[in-house]
Amino acid sequence: MSFKAPRGTKDIYGEDIFIWQKVEGILREICERFCVSEIRTPVFEQTELFQRGVGETSDIVTKEMYTLEKKGSESVTLKPEGTAGAARAFVENSMYADPQPTKMYYITPAFRYERPQAGRQRQFHQFGVEIFGSCDAACDAEAISIAYEALNKIGVKNIELKINSLGGNECRKRYNEVLKDFIKNNISDLCGDCRERFEKNPLRVLDCKNEKCGNILENAPSVLDCLGEECKAHFEALKTNLDNMGIPYTVDPKIVRGLDYYTKTVFEFVSNEIGSQGTVCGGGRYDNLIGECGGPQTGAVGFAMGLERIMMLVKSQKLIEFIGKNIDIYIGSIGEKGFLKAQSIGYELRKSGICAEYDTLKRSVKAQLKYANKINAKYSVVIGENEVLNDSINLKNMKESSQEEIKLSDIKEELLKRI
Ligand code: ATP
Ligand code: MG
Repeated sequence: MSFKAPRGTKDIYGEDIFIWQKVEGILREICERFCVSEIRTPVFEQTELFQRGVGETSDIVTKEMYTLEKKGSESVTLKPEGTAGAARAFVENSMYADPQPTKMYYITPAFRYERPQAGRQRQFHQFGVEIFGSCDAACDAEAISIAYEALNKIGVKNIELKINSLGGNECRKRYNEVLKDFIKNNISDLCGDCRERFEKNPLRVLDCKNEKCGNILENAPSVLDCLGEECKAHFEALKTNLDNMGIPYTVDPKIVRGLDYYTKTVFEFVSNEIGSQGTVCGGGRYDNLIGECGGPQTGAVGFAMGLERIMMLVKSQKLIEFIGKNIDIYIGSIGEKGFLKAQSIGYELRKSGICAEYDTLKRSVKAQLKYANKINAKYSVVIGENEVLNDSINLKNMKESSQEEIKLSDIKEELLKRI
């Protein structure tokens, strides 16, 4: 019997895990500096949370959810994104009663039943930030500044920030009417998906990835022309705030994002270097979600960054150099007595912060030293019965091919002096 990882999933190990850990380290460090705390929510939630939160007409809910039905239990779904769970946690744990804002981040796997291709998987990973407790554009700008700093710190080049505003409920209604008229006039040239979207949620048509649709939609009316006074002022404030922090952006009225919960600000960071799945980060304001989840009316804004797409850029732009494990000493051994000594010394050294490796395969001394070379150990020793009896050992500097005799019982002190 042989097994394969499910379609659209990937094992992450070796050089890749090195890069993932570096990137995750950068993200966590940035959140620390921006005063954002981590939240870990369950990998699955009540299905209804996503239906209501992400939205009945979104691609996610209509066709991408991994829903699990167990006899006698409520239906649950593997998280397709992080915001709904974070919002549920904010309400369920009454975080709204704490001094605001509440700023949280997560690094989480997410699951969507999609056609796998470069930059699109069925299990992928998101770094996300949510800021709850304010309707002010300053928070939209703060969220964007975190994503911007993350991309800069990782070193990603040639990324463009695009911003837009979808307005509030009233503006959206006005825009839907104008947009519907436009789409109606072009409906026969649009793809099947778009025709379906037109019925359920015309805004979603703007999000179509089909090139032909894209060309037609170039001439669609702009949502920004339908904004009311308050939403217009909010968008202007966002631009002022971004200018104030020196964060460059372009306004793109075609950005609508794929989730139903956005109000006012939406934004994307886009790369044109990783093919058609070029959106590395998407976010926006969602002032109705906390209310939808049974909480008090609460302003909220956030984003999610697709880590697989970031890793593609990290690799193609050679942003993080792989450095193998830093092994201080390889402790070779001969015979059972030698092995037991190597094991106890190895354990002692490891506990004192030294990176030590010893042979557990009972290989020949020659094979052991070959392995020590392969793993790039800085020092090596070989412990046999004589070394134990005489409390004396040759400490070999692998880089310089030099050696010196030291007391076996002093090995820790001697090593600490040298590394
Ligand atoms: P797309 O238009 O690429 O489908 P989306 O609008 O569905 O993206 P969001 O739900 O906003 O994306 O998710 C935020 C980010 O997560 C995306 O910008 C992308 O980087 C990443 N992402 C989304 N779906 C996938 C996937 N199936 N595989 C890998 N990354 C993904
Ligand atoms: Mg999608």
